[in-house]
Amino acid sequence: MATRTDRYLAELSSPDSLLVAAGRDGRPGTPLNMPPVLASNFVLGTERAYSRGDGTPTWEALEDIIGRLEGGRALAFASGMAGVAAIFDQLHAGSRVVLPDGCYQGVTGLAESGRQRGLWSVTRLAVDDTDGWTAAAADADLLWLESPSNPMLVVADLSAICSARRKPSALLAVDNTFATSLNQRPLDLGADLSFQSATKFIGGHSDLLAGLVAVRDNDLLAALRKSRELNGATPGALESFLAVRGARTMALRLERAQASAMILAERLSSHSNVACTRFPGLSTHPTHSIARRQLKGFGSIISFDIRGDAAAADEVCSRVRLIQHATSLGAVESTIERRASNPGQEHLPASLLRLSVGIENVEDLWADLDAALKTPGQG
Ligand SMILES: *Cc1c(COP(=O)(O)O)cnc(C)c1O
Repeated sequence: MATRTDRYLAELSSPDSLLVAAGRDGRPGTPLNMPPVLASNFVLGTERAYSRGDGTPTWEALEDIIGRLEGGRALAFASGMAGVAAIFDQLHAGSRVVLPDGCYQGVTGLAESGRQRGLWSVTRLAVDDTDGWTAAAADADLLWLESPSNPMLVVADLSAICSARRKPSALLAVDNTFATSLNQRPLDLGADLSFQSATKFIGGHSDLLAGLVAVRDNDLLAALRKSRELNGATPGALESFLAVRGARTMALRLERAQASAMILAERLSSHSNVACTRFPGLSTHPTHSIARRQLKGFGSIISFDIRGDAAAADEVCSRVRLIQHATSLGAVESTIERRASNPGQEHLPASLLRLSVGIENVEDLWADLDAALKTPGQG
């Protein structure tokens, strides 16, 4: 039976309020926030017997928040990749998978390992090849989109691709990690699945791994839950608790980070030691007009090529002091990394740096970047 709070939350449409208000028990005498429930099994007599299949109240608090934010129902996983694997687990033998030519390397790796074992075929298309995607939709079994993409930040025309005719059994999934549920709601655009790594913006503090998959179809939700149960891809109690803690402040963190990212992207694009700056908010960005139409905000990830070689780019990473030289993104601390230094990423421009802008003071961030960029190659 829906409680008074459930009905109220169902009508509450502001995502910043939902992030704070959802995922609570709400009954008198219960903790204001769901504590980490450390339990594998429960006293029998209700539908909750064993957590691997039946979930825990802590996972459900996180699922409740993100499900509402995405306009569907969400399931939490052990990591982003565990969620991705549960989606690929829905494919039958011989399926056709269509992937962006540039997307998260873990997704590429998973798709490639299945292809090598003969489980499915893989076709790759440019993120901005809208005609290619709408044509491929007709006989694909899984269309996997990532927008904005990693690390080139190309924005796919999701409305056009999601509305292209596809087989009734086909799945269209959007990796919403870079955009977040605050800037983009893929299910509203017509996607079947909205995936995100909660390790990034939801967690927001570089201290947990988790993934979330949101859907509207109840059968698909049940199938994903079954996959999570059978593969043991369950989130940790502490991680789920921390992800809820992170979600409470996500709107504020993102607002700050993406405002700073806009400022930094503009300054980087006119910096004499920067050859090219990619940020969907810049009017010079090739998919800026789609970004303006599709995204509520441009996000907080910038990628830019410095003038110079890999060694000069590595030097920038070793010079920054406020910005951390680290991989990953979406956290309170700004991080920078030369992407081509990662295994399997050698095809990227050698001097491409990916900057995830955090919540530090923007002038301090600029001073740090500017100093690090000043004299590449000069010690
Ligand atoms: C990090 C990331 C993933 C994978 O998530 P994990 O939590 O690291 O398993 C998938 N897609 C994108 C775009 C990511 O940034």
